[in-house]
Amino acid sequence: MADKQVMAEVDKGTMLPLMEAFYTIQGEGYHKGTAAYFIRVGGCDVGCHWCDVKESWNADIHPPTHIDQIVTNAAESSDTIVVTGGEPLTWNMKPLTSALKEKGLQTHIETSGAYPLTGIWDWICLSPKKNKLPLQPIYKEADELKVIVYNKHDFIFAEEQAQKVNEDCMLYMQPEWSVREKVMPLIVDYVMKNPKWRVSLQTHKYLNIP
Ligand code: SF4
Repeated sequence: MADKQVMAEVDKGTMLPLMEAFYTIQGEGYHKGTAAYFIRVGGCDVGCHWCDVKESWNADIHPPTHIDQIVTNAAESSDTIVVTGGEPLTWNMKPLTSALKEKGLQTHIETSGAYPLTGIWDWICLSPKKNKLPLQPIYKEADELKVIVYNKHDFIFAEEQAQKVNEDCMLYMQPEWSVREKVMPLIVDYVMKNPKWRVSLQTHKYLNIP
């Protein structure tokens, strides 16, 4: 396919720069411990310095892949599909999620919310980042707010973000992996004093699975 044609398909969201896709156990947040098929889409310019998937940032190094192929593989593996990145909302998620829903699959997204919300989602995990804040409309759509705690200021940031979501949105604090030993006691203490929050751990990293 000619480059222009591919670019047009990527613009429409009928092709996506696919970094990887795999069946595993959701490690984090509300659905932790449950089996799910992950679709990791390339492309992110949010620029978190502690990002553990920096290879995802440059969309150009991930092959544009037709959503039909992505959906066929997903449907063979699981009935729950988690779309992550990178920042999946860099792209139009409507075609992918429509095709997943046509197959009767549950669609979950993990997003910073920095770009307009597209797609049909059964579960939205919003993980806001200070250097590129979520756009306003996604706050009221979020089912789960997951704040990554790297330093003490992140507790203030977490409360600011929690004021913007719906009352029934689940609230999670998750230690940034590289500083987990330092921040975990702070999180434990904070959650005990503020029990509307829950602790989220990257259990897949402890289990040594993707
Ligand atoms: S938003 Fe996610 S993928 Fe993008 S830089 Fe931050 S942690 Fe990495």
